[in-house]
Amino acid sequence: MAEIEHLICLGIESTADNLGVGIATSDGAILANEITTHVPEEGGIHPREAARHHSDQMGNTISRALEKAGVSARDVDIIAFSQGPGLGPSLRTGATAARALSSYLKVPLVGVNHCVAHIEIGRLATGAEDPLTLYVSGGNTIVTGFEAGRYRIFGETLDIAIGNCLDTFSREAGLPYPGGPAVEQLALEGKELIPLPYVVKGMDLSFSGLLTAVIQEYRTGRHRLEDLCYSLQEAAYSMLGEVTERALAHTGKRELLLTGGVGANKRLRSMIASIAEEHGATPSFVPIGYATDNGAMIAWTGVIAYLSGVRTPIETSYIDSRWRLDRVEVPWRA
Ligand code: AMP
Ligand code: MG
Repeated sequence: MAEIEHLICLGIESTADNLGVGIATSDGAILANEITTHVPEEGGIHPREAARHHSDQMGNTISRALEKAGVSARDVDIIAFSQGPGLGPSLRTGATAARALSSYLKVPLVGVNHCVAHIEIGRLATGAEDPLTLYVSGGNTIVTGFEAGRYRIFGETLDIAIGNCLDTFSREAGLPYPGGPAVEQLALEGKELIPLPYVVKGMDLSFSGLLTAVIQEYRTGRHRLEDLCYSLQEAAYSMLGEVTERALAHTGKRELLLTGGVGANKRLRSMIASIAEEHGATPSFVPIGYATDNGAMIAWTGVIAYLSGVRTPIETSYIDSRWRLDRVEVPWRA
């Protein structure tokens, strides 16, 4: 018990195309954050191929993380893993490795909700204490904030995630993968705003009609690709901005956190910064290595959850590919 403030947690992230292994200590140091990404030969993520990549790379990635951290497997006190939401086959590879490590090393296992982990590493990395969070990635689009014991979802996508929308459009337009950065680059040269669907329903968002429409416009051959990218970004990021701003005004939070891979986008960052400014809130942006899917966020969330009593016995460590953020109890913030 004497060393409780120096617990070491190894976390495995494997919800989609990234395999991440991170090592965090209970005093908030990130000792390692190794990431390897499965790049599909064509098309989008293929769940079984991503899972095969993860199991092929698991041993290596764990060894590299331990080496970077300068700790041996025997020094690890807790094993954490992404238990959901995500792609079943990918999640299962991470969970299997985590169970094996936990029983071999005889240390406790902690199943972590992937979305909670994005918020917790964001708070750690930026120092934000109680932010309203816009979490935008390849698989998720969520506006969330902590209220009464949980991360409540104020708004979310009703269909595809914003990152998925950008990636699918860019694949259609022959741009490199992932699509977000390619669309961002071309959008800088955009001049003409092409009318596209803007779908906000209450506090929720829909991107699938926008995606279909921008692909249709592309196929007419009448527009410059730069204008299509520019118009796509303006429509999608304005929708995100509207919902985020309303949630910020409604909750009265004093901090606004942007995270997830799409949070690297400069146009979206500037919109978030001006929304924050208008409402007297402090904006913060999660550094990219901690914003995209990574193992450090799982290790960090694993250790804080462990310290407030969370344990995941092997018998209940099955993955939940639809585990919603707002169903997770967050005792460490209670
Ligand atoms: P994640 O799912 O958090 O690992 O993030 C991956 C997603 O972020 C992919 O959909 C990328 O296209 C997207 N992304 C990465 N960089 C950018 C950028 N600069 N602008 C917009 N989207 C981006
Ligand atoms: Mg993610």
